[in-house]
Amino acid sequence: MLQIFASYDVPLVRFFAGFLEHQGIECHVTNEPVGSLGGDIPLLEGPTELWVLDDSRLEEARQLIEKAALPGVPVNPWRCGKCGELVEGQFTDCWNCGEARGGDSDAPSPS
Ligand SMILES: [Zn+2]
Repeated sequence: MLQIFASYDVPLVRFFAGFLEHQGIECHVTNEPVGSLGGDIPLLEGPTELWVLDDSRLEEARQLIEKAALPGVPVNPWRCGKCGELVEGQFTDCWNCGEARGGDSDAPSPS
C-alpha cells in the first residue's frame, strides 16, 4: 500500500478516493476526522491520507488524479453533460464517467 495524496481538505481526499475506486483502483483513506459534524474544527495529527492498495497501480492512480485536478484553477462546480454529475470546479473531467468538461453544461457566465 502506497500513499498517493494527503490533504487537510478531507472532502477532497474523499473525492479522490471515490474517483479512483470508480476507476477500479482500490484505495484507503486514513487519518479521517471522526465526529464533529456540528461545525467544530477537528483536531488532527496530520492531513487525511489517501493510499492505493495495489502498489503496481500507484502511477496510474497518480496520473488519474493529475488529470482530474488542476490546483489553483477556479472553482465553480460544473455539471457533467453526459451523466449529470456535479463536479468540483478544479476538475477538468467528470470523476464519475470521465467526460471532459465543456459543451453546454458549463457553469453560467457571471454577467
Ligand atoms: Zn459524467
